[in-house]
Amino acid sequence: MAKKIKGKGVISGIAIGNILLAGQNLDSYLVAYKPSSKKTEKKKAAEALIAVAENLKKSIDEFLAKDLKEQAGILDAHRMMVEDPAMSGAIDEQIDISGSAPKAVIDAYESQAQIFETMDDEYFRGRAVDMRDVGKRIAKHLLGIKEPEIAGKVIVAGKDIEPSVIAGLPTDKIAGVILGVGSTTAHAVIIAKTRAIPTVVGVGDGIQHIADGDPVILDGSTGEILIRPSEKERDSYAEKIKKQEELKAYYAQLKDKPAITTDGKEVELVANIGSPADAKAAVEDYGATGVGLFRSEFVFMGKTDVPKEEDQFKQYKAAVEHCAAVTHGEGLCVIRTMDIGGDKPLPYIQVGKEENPFLGYRAIRISLRRKDLFMPQLRAILRAGVYGKAAIMFPMVINVDEFLAAKQFVEDAKAELTQEGVKFSDTVQVGIMVETPAAAVMAPILAKYVDFFSIGTNDLVQYTLAVDRGNAQISYLYNHFNPAVLRLIKRTIESANKEGKWAGMCGEMASDPNAAIILMAMGIKELSMSAPSIPRVKERIRNITLARAKEILAEVMEMEDGDKIKDYLASLE
Ligand code: PEP
Ligand code: MG
Repeated sequence: MAKKIKGKGVISGIAIGNILLAGQNLDSYLVAYKPSSKKTEKKKAAEALIAVAENLKKSIDEFLAKDLKEQAGILDAHRMMVEDPAMSGAIDEQIDISGSAPKAVIDAYESQAQIFETMDDEYFRGRAVDMRDVGKRIAKHLLGIKEPEIAGKVIVAGKDIEPSVIAGLPTDKIAGVILGVGSTTAHAVIIAKTRAIPTVVGVGDGIQHIADGDPVILDGSTGEILIRPSEKERDSYAEKIKKQEELKAYYAQLKDKPAITTDGKEVELVANIGSPADAKAAVEDYGATGVGLFRSEFVFMGKTDVPKEEDQFKQYKAAVEHCAAVTHGEGLCVIRTMDIGGDKPLPYIQVGKEENPFLGYRAIRISLRRKDLFMPQLRAILRAGVYGKAAIMFPMVINVDEFLAAKQFVEDAKAELTQEGVKFSDTVQVGIMVETPAAAVMAPILAKYVDFFSIGTNDLVQYTLAVDRGNAQISYLYNHFNPAVLRLIKRTIESANKEGKWAGMCGEMASDPNAAIILMAMGIKELSMSAPSIPRVKERIRNITLARAKEILAEVMEMEDGDKIKDYLASLE
């Protein structure tokens, strides 16, 4: 019989695979480790350094053979950190103190990481994370903890998983995701949604029962996780997997049909993406009619340095081209300028330690101060616009001044490109995310300046209700149907329409079929979501009239409580 743990299923589907632990804590292993004499420990450490460097070389060659130069580059830097003679000296010194080779390795690399962290040069400060990673890798070797086999499919598990961990693994390798924290809008979960990867969050301490390499069955609907299941238990899931396949087939036949009500109101259903490959899958497999949110920060993640304009251009161009290939709808590709900070730190863009990163130096606040980062990105998007229809969207805007300052950068980028004789599109729309209460309140004014709004409910809900989007303890308060939130959304949509502009939504609320009908009644033009959610939302829209949706909206706006609104809408399904 398997050991069972339970969390909250947030992305449905059954996944079977072996565990890949992200951000593994080695403390319990270090305590259990029985050191030999200091001399033997030093010998073991020296041998581990050689073995780990060899393993890294093998992986580097594999990456290079697959033309994955960036991954190879990261590992090569790690190899140098392993082979650094100064480190073997530092490890020996630590063995003299603690007597344990794995502990000495962790301590030696940790103290080096701390030195890096205090350096003035941003690049070196960013190396601290690599140092710790390398120390852990060598310690794991000494402790006999195997590097996970990624031969088959893996289920990535961790207390909190950095977005780059999932973004960095090939799509076809990840069968499922298990998160200790309870967030449904953590970026690791958002990426998982884009790829329809069954996901369970909020397993809390249950994560401690899972070891690297454990075979696991995960049910993304019920939140159940079976660790080391028996043959019989595996068989019992076979029926569920069959049903899953049938539903997929049903949704597949909706793919090329428009999201139109029975009385003729059409809504654009588009995709949230993190890469051009996501755009291709969204358009080809799920019938997205464009992209409503390209989270460009994912282009910046998993790298050791800022991607060059040319590299960014290639990615944006590919996404724009995938959108241009849609046969129905506008084929617009909305590219959001980088939303760094908050829960999306980058090792090479230092924002410093902050008490409240979600209220800190992030998103457009960084872009406006870092011309060196902002201009290449804007130039890349403007150039990509030549290959279809692109739009630029700024995140976290709170006032008109920020928008105008950012828009001025766009004009400057155009002027530069013109002067250099580089091709670009002059018709790229420029809009903003409405994800702060300030932007929603000021929507009637902002609407005069922007080309469009896209409502980011993930942040709008957290800032309006003062409820951290990642805090499991208070997740019961995080409700996009809260009347305060609904009023801000309605105001935003109506303000855009009044000025002849358009409003869309790219927060997770857009993927809720019950929300979709009232948003449509409010006058929303476009709903952008993780592509696998499109068929469910489409089905809801195709089975209602706009007139009925308006009646429902009127009733909802009379109600005083978010939970009641949620229950009421669910009762109509
Ligand atoms: C949002 O805040 O709703 C949004 C779409 O942006 P992100 O989830 O990337 O913060
Ligand atoms: Mg946001």
